[in-house]
Amino acid sequence: MPSRVLVSACLLGAEVRHHGGAATVEHPILRRWRDECRIVGTCPEMAGGLPSPRPPSEIRGLRVVTSGGLDVTPEFEAGAATAVRIARELGIRVAVLKSRSPSCGTGRIYDGTFSGRFVDGDGVTAAALRREGVQVFDETQLEEADVALCRT
Ligand code: SF4
Repeated sequence: MPSRVLVSACLLGAEVRHHGGAATVEHPILRRWRDECRIVGTCPEMAGGLPSPRPPSEIRGLRVVTSGGLDVTPEFEAGAATAVRIARELGIRVAVLKSRSPSCGTGRIYDGTFSGRFVDGDGVTAAALRREGVQVFDETQLEEADVALCRT
């Protein structure tokens, strides 16, 4: 069985984003991974119990809040826990996650003011996977992720 890679479901074409759409990425590496049966898709926000469409959310301090001020931290943490459980169960050491998302964002996320500004940081799921020792990349880093996957 080849090493698996965890991928944000919206990058794979699933219509699970907050606006009800996808963020499909067409890339030869993703196609090869699919042909090799390596890809495991997950949407942490849906896994945590949120619907699609749903209000946009951003991380504000230690909490995650919607644009309407609703605290959705428990749903985000539940989705992150699901991603970690999947990674543990399948021995996954590499993930490719959607950039800038409050769940999946890696290294750069919205700043919590819903004004389109960014800060350094990880989304809730990306951070949880990193703590688990999973190497986390975004959709612009597929070549780097492929190298990392080949080493696992
Ligand atoms: Fe995509 Fe992650 Fe947001 Fe789900 S939680 S829609 S997988 S970025």
